[in-house]
Amino acid sequence: MALKRLIEQSPIFDIYQKVISEKRISEDDALRLFQTNDIHTLGLLANTIREKKNNNYTYYNINRHIDYSNVCSVSCKFCAFSRFKGEEGAYEFTIDEICKRAKAALDQEHITELHIVGGLHPDYPFEWYENMLRALKHTVPTVHLKCFTAVEIDFFANKFDMTYEEILKRLKEAGLDSLPGGGAEIFHEDIRKQICPGKATADQWIQVHETAHSLGLSTTATMLYGHIENYRHRVDHLRRLRELQDKTSGFQTFIPLAFHPDHTALDQFARPSGIEDLKTLAISRIYLDNFPHIKAYWIMLGIKLAQLSLSFGVDDLDGTVIEERIYHMAGADTPEIMTVSQLQKLIREVGRIPVERDTLYKSLKVQEIALV
Ligand code: SF4
Repeated sequence: MALKRLIEQSPIFDIYQKVISEKRISEDDALRLFQTNDIHTLGLLANTIREKKNNNYTYYNINRHIDYSNVCSVSCKFCAFSRFKGEEGAYEFTIDEICKRAKAALDQEHITELHIVGGLHPDYPFEWYENMLRALKHTVPTVHLKCFTAVEIDFFANKFDMTYEEILKRLKEAGLDSLPGGGAEIFHEDIRKQICPGKATADQWIQVHETAHSLGLSTTATMLYGHIENYRHRVDHLRRLRELQDKTSGFQTFIPLAFHPDHTALDQFARPSGIEDLKTLAISRIYLDNFPHIKAYWIMLGIKLAQLSLSFGVDDLDGTVIEERIYHMAGADTPEIMTVSQLQKLIREVGRIPVERDTLYKSLKVQEIALV
């Protein structure tokens, strides 16, 4: 009864009633959710939706990241990973090195997914990317290849004078299985032109994903928050994603990414606070009613907060990852790998059921154990 009274007195009670009766919330509602300090009602609401959609399950996968090169033609202000060609710290993996890493991860960790992205390399011919995919399919044929952000696809289209459809069809033919959701940053033009003026626009990012969905490639979506944007920009970002998902149903997961300022041109900013992280995850769960999953990327969020987020709308903790570079170069202090038993323990400690999934959310292993 006391809880009921508390919720009724909440400044977001009208939104609470809307969500509970399965009505879609508006952009104004989402903005009010960002402005509220009632984190308890927000969490309760997000958790209700999370349990309706995904029961008590929490997903993870066994994956490995390979960032094939950090050589990039542009210089985004929030990026600590990229280097110009010839600059100190620039690296390029050969296709042979990439395959060796993939094979070792399959043999030692039994990965089911490779997550492969890189900078916008000025010199590689298009065939290099096709050859990499073909070599990987030959070396680790059972592993799902989730490769190239929409920003890379847009870069290829411009550089090699092809349409998005032509690029994606050729990459799919070579072995591409799905696209990751990076490069979305914040869609709003006012922010984009300040933090990443040299790369794909929001419309281009959306068009790449729409084309991928039309070709049967599923994708994920991200949002980099906690830098120069405000709440209106975050809501605008979510709106554009919800609209595309209404059209295509091709997104599987939304992954809010907390900005890490170290070693970037925006290092005067602090990292977003824990409350900001939880709010953003919870509101994403509430607003994106057409997304099946919300993921906490533990690398950026930190392990403790990622665990807590399982009560704030999150149903996916990403995976074992192995050798993440992009956010560790921006000061992430999380480990570069999490073992399966560590992931399962984190999940079980909050009373959820760990489920190992493949990239397309097929359950591979369900651990029906309640608490440790
Ligand atoms: S975020 Fe991507 S496109 Fe931007 S500088 Fe870094 S690697 Fe290059």
